[in-house]
Amino acid sequence: MTKAKRKLGLTTKIFIALLLGAVTGTLLHYFAPSNAFFDDILVNGFFYVIGQGFLRLMQMLVVPLVLCSLVCGAAAIGDTKTLGKVGVRTVVFYLFTTALAICVALGVAKLINPGVGMDLSALETTETAVTAQQSMAETLLDIIPKNPFSSLASGNMLQIIVFAIIIGIILAKLQDKTQLIHNFFQQGNDIMMEMTMMVMSLAPIGVFCLIAKTFSGMGFDAFRPLLKYMGAVLLALMIQCFGSYQVLLKAFTGLNPIKFVKKFLPVMGFAFSTATSNATIPLSIDTLERKMGVSRRISSFTIPLGATINMDGTSIMQGVAVVFIAQAYGIALTPADYLTVIATATLASIGTAGVPSVGLVTLSMVLASVGLPIEGIGFIMGIDRILDMTRTAVNITGDAVCTTIVASQNQALDRDVFNAESV
Ligand code: ASP
Repeated sequence: MTKAKRKLGLTTKIFIALLLGAVTGTLLHYFAPSNAFFDDILVNGFFYVIGQGFLRLMQMLVVPLVLCSLVCGAAAIGDTKTLGKVGVRTVVFYLFTTALAICVALGVAKLINPGVGMDLSALETTETAVTAQQSMAETLLDIIPKNPFSSLASGNMLQIIVFAIIIGIILAKLQDKTQLIHNFFQQGNDIMMEMTMMVMSLAPIGVFCLIAKTFSGMGFDAFRPLLKYMGAVLLALMIQCFGSYQVLLKAFTGLNPIKFVKKFLPVMGFAFSTATSNATIPLSIDTLERKMGVSRRISSFTIPLGATINMDGTSIMQGVAVVFIAQAYGIALTPADYLTVIATATLASIGTAGVPSVGLVTLSMVLASVGLPIEGIGFIMGIDRILDMTRTAVNITGDAVCTTIVASQNQALDRDVFNAESV
């Protein structure tokens, strides 16, 4: 009880920090004189160091936590048949929700026509960080780690997931023979969960600094010409998050969507502040277990996988961006082009890492697939941060909804916990 109370306190504190950060940042942007104190000491010194420091602490947890919890999860599911069933269901759900997300995005964009009447040449282009795109064959092959230790060192999530599942399956198979190693991973898991709690207690300070820094650097003027594009992306994100997902949740599990959203809101707030799906993994697994009754057996596998391959929010931005850039450049897209966009944006979602701004990089793959100018990315870069924050919240909500559905289908959902009042 006291623990629940303390937790509730932390959630509220994170939201207050988010609001205070936005207000402080906006006030600084419009009213603070540009001088060494405000620019160098406060915003780029204090806010930057504390905000990034907190983000790094969260990122520090990810690789060891995913490795330990996934090994334990795979070992607990035990026989490969169940694991295969959960895996296939999860991937099918992930792909389906991503394709659905792009359709929503294309529909909204065609309704709003964000690029019609835009004079892109009047806007300044910023340098784009577009890197060479990977072929589909390479993307697929890249799932298999050549050297698991280098995957761990570089934080290649998909490769870590594959390696951890294999270890888990073998631990389940060898049972007593490998008890020591099994205990090692279990204790590693306990340590990482404790560390997560410790780092999370710093979240209000970290979130305040991250948000204050973002808002202080971004005036409303900077994105006025792109408001229509932003509006279209935000509308499509809302439809996906509060419409599509909740309908799916209700249809597949019968659970109350409003309760789900209420309980998951702090995780969304956290993803919004950090724009990093990966850093949200520990909090998401913890919230799903404690508040929704989703067994860690399922979530320790589906959440890291989702944070790596299921980026519905990102593909929504990409769908709207395609329509926006095509209209702004006066290029007509055919129905076949739209189908190509659905396919490539789904692949791009798999290839997008759960860290800030990567969605912009993989957008180049989608634009190139239908012959649109990659320079178009330069026009939307300036205002991408706020969209990145919002789409990250949608990305991780999609993972959580799919996880809850898969858990319910595998008798790994405690409905009493879900229905309990604590938020
Ligand atoms: N920031 C996003 C995430 O971590 C990825 C992106 O769209 O850039 O989920």
